[in-house]
Amino acid sequence: MGVDYYNCGICDEIFADCGYNGFCGNCETWLCGHCYDAMREKNGELGEGHEKAGDYGEDAASCCDLCTGEHIDPNAFLKFVIEKTGKSEEESETEYRQQVRSKNGGIDA
Ligand SMILES: [Zn+2]
Ligand SMILES: [Zn+2]
Repeated sequence: MGVDYYNCGICDEIFADCGYNGFCGNCETWLCGHCYDAMREKNGELGEGHEKAGDYGEDAASCCDLCTGEHIDPNAFLKFVIEKTGKSEEESETEYRQQVRSKNGGIDA
């Protein structure tokens, strides 16, 4: 049995699965120990008898900043913004590269 490492869904910190960590019982995001504690303190725990307590434990957080929308996933947000521009991700990337290049003295100009 090896140790696996995961990224916390909120702070993106890397933690080992054998260390202290926990789940959000609502959106099922795996959280590092720090965020797990913070979310339980803020939003409470699932509690005994909750339908998901069997899967995630009765002390899993009842919800977290991800499912309340408080925490914004930068990648998901970027996709959202790109969609609003009506351009494809590739088009936006190309434009961005051009902008970076021109800022850096116009390598491509
Ligand atoms: Zn975290
Ligand atoms: Zn959540």
